[in-house]
Amino acid sequence: MASAEPSRKAGYGRHVSEPPAALGGGGRPRLGPRLEGALRAAVGEGHLLTDPDLTASYERDWTGRYGGPAAAVVRPGTTDEVAAVLRVLSAESVAVVPQGGNTGLVGGGVPRAGEVVLSLRRLRGDVHVDPEDRLLEAGAGTTLAEAQQAAREVGLEVGLDLAARDAATLGGMVATNAGGVRVVRHGPLRRRLAGLEAVLADGTVVDRRGGLLKDNVGYDLPGLFAGSEGTLAVVTRVLLRLEPLPASRVAAFVALRAPEALGTPGAGRATATALQVGREILRLGGIEVLEVVYPPGVRLVCEHAGLPAPPDPGADAWLLVEATGDDEVTTARLGALLDAHPLVSATAVALDAPGRAALFAYRERHTEAIARLGVAHKLDVAVPLSRLARLAAEVVDAVAARWPDAATVLFGHLGDGNLHVNVVGPPPDDDEVDALVLGIVLAHGGSVSAEHGVGVARLPFVSRARHPGDLAAMRAVKRALDPRGVLNPGVLIPAG
Ligand SMILES: Cc1cc2nc3c(=O)[nH]c(=O)nc-3n(C[C@H](O)[C@H](O)[C@H](O)COP(=O)(O)OP(=O)(O)OC[C@H]3O[C@@H](n4cnc5c(N)ncnc54)[C@H](O)[C@@H]3O)c2cc1C
Repeated sequence: MASAEPSRKAGYGRHVSEPPAALGGGGRPRLGPRLEGALRAAVGEGHLLTDPDLTASYERDWTGRYGGPAAAVVRPGTTDEVAAVLRVLSAESVAVVPQGGNTGLVGGGVPRAGEVVLSLRRLRGDVHVDPEDRLLEAGAGTTLAEAQQAAREVGLEVGLDLAARDAATLGGMVATNAGGVRVVRHGPLRRRLAGLEAVLADGTVVDRRGGLLKDNVGYDLPGLFAGSEGTLAVVTRVLLRLEPLPASRVAAFVALRAPEALGTPGAGRATATALQVGREILRLGGIEVLEVVYPPGVRLVCEHAGLPAPPDPGADAWLLVEATGDDEVTTARLGALLDAHPLVSATAVALDAPGRAALFAYRERHTEAIARLGVAHKLDVAVPLSRLARLAAEVVDAVAARWPDAATVLFGHLGDGNLHVNVVGPPPDDDEVDALVLGIVLAHGGSVSAEHGVGVARLPFVSRARHPGDLAAMRAVKRALDPRGVLNPGVLIPAG
């Protein structure tokens, strides 16, 4: 299956903060010999990086839009080393940015103001699968692809998937409560999480790896840390629930023609059509994937990734569907629905893994194809399904009216009401387009961050997206667990 290894681009934009003078001169932040010595003692000589050539790949995010120089990169290899590093840094009130695979899309895993980067990638492997209780436990630096492979080897699956699987880590996925293409069936990471081990800012280790479905003794700390974006704790080990591998899977890439009755031509009408067909597909049961893509994105993917023309190249939208279950029943029911459907103009179907991967590529290669156009404003939004078509139409029209030369590429997780809105054209450091799109989303009662997290990118919108009481509670939790505010400051929680 196609995958995207993150590339890191050089150069810093406006979202980069200057190194604070207190951390050193010479244009780059430094910790000073005493602190550097303490960190070296904690992780070993080779795992404290200060040479700019070595730190560069940790300092810029996947989108190329966010990042800044780090005071140092520290690479602990065990939970004890993570705890030792945090004890040193919090005692001196030095800010630290946890980082996993650096595939995050909202600038939350890279330094902004001379923080120390705590790279968790060495906490990789040590993967244990318990087939009887259907649990997988692994170090937080283990990639999603490695966890998926370990589960498959014993006839189970993780139930989570996303195109960055070869680089995204389990710890990063917990921290962002990652979603992906299988949420419509299995839910986001928080629902797959059976427990974790994490280290608090002061070095205290929290161990909640019971793995039980029912265990009401106290607060749900794993649930709290899921989606906390490195602001409450550093995740060091992850326990996931597994699902049985289905007997078979069938994937379909379904071309749709939008009828005039569903509105004016464009993204709104295409989305309304996709929803109408998508709802009928969901009613069949056993649907694991229900994604939507549109002509601008499919054209880009074919151009940049060299994919063959899709079924009905003139279609208004395409659905990527995967159904699991009994081979003949699933295929027959899905086939019967699609063959007879008046809004379906063509369908490509695949049963074997290479064939399914070829169909998934039309959806999965969107992010990397868009990146080839330039630095994109990436908005990850969700609204109730009843509002999705209107949202798509309003967003595309509003952006075109303000920036006629901009490229707006939509794609997303139709079944979850989650669209990824990508706008290339307006300068990367101009936040006006973000405000325009997210204003429309909020007016529809939607979420300004469906699955990518808040990071720094969505921070200005949190106060509008959350009730003041919610914000007060979030700040109180943060103060209680990280009183010195050293864990990922400037991310997720607006200053108040
Ligand atoms: C091509 C592509 C496709 C993608 N598709 C999807 C998708 O379908 N669905 C989706 O949800 N996301 C998607 N993403 C976004 C990204 O892959 C996820 O957000 C992922 O969970 C990030 O994992 P990471 O290890 O790269 O984390 P990073 O990018 O390193 O960090 C992300 C956040 O987590 C924190 N963090 C990282 N590790 C830890 C830890 N061990 N403890 C505490 N905090 C930590 C960081 O401080 C940061 O705030 C995609 C990204 C790319 C590049």
